[in-house]
Amino acid sequence: MSDAIEGSVRATCPRCGTVEVPAAATTLRMTAAGSDDRRSVASFRCPSCGETVEMPVDERTAGLLLTAGVGIGVPSELPSQTDHS
Ligand SMILES: [Zn+2]
Repeated sequence: MSDAIEGSVRATCPRCGTVEVPAAATTLRMTAAGSDDRRSVASFRCPSCGETVEMPVDERTAGLLLTAGVGIGVPSELPSQTDHS
C-alpha cells in the first residue's frame, strides 16, 4: 500500500475552538453534486471532547484537506463497509 504521510488538519470545534485533527480521522464529503452551489463538508471527531463536528469548507480548503491526506467520505445513506486492517 502507499505510504501515508502523517498529516494533521487544523479544524474548529464549537466547544474547544481550534484543534488539530489527524487527517486520517477526517472525512470530506462533497455535497450538491451537479448543482451550482457546490459545497463540501468536512467531518471529524474532535480529539479533545470526542464530539463529531461537521464543518462546511470552500473549494480551496477542500483541496488543502485532500492534500493533507483526508479521505473522501460516502453519503450516509449508503451502508458503510467495515474495513478490518
Ligand atoms: Zn471539541
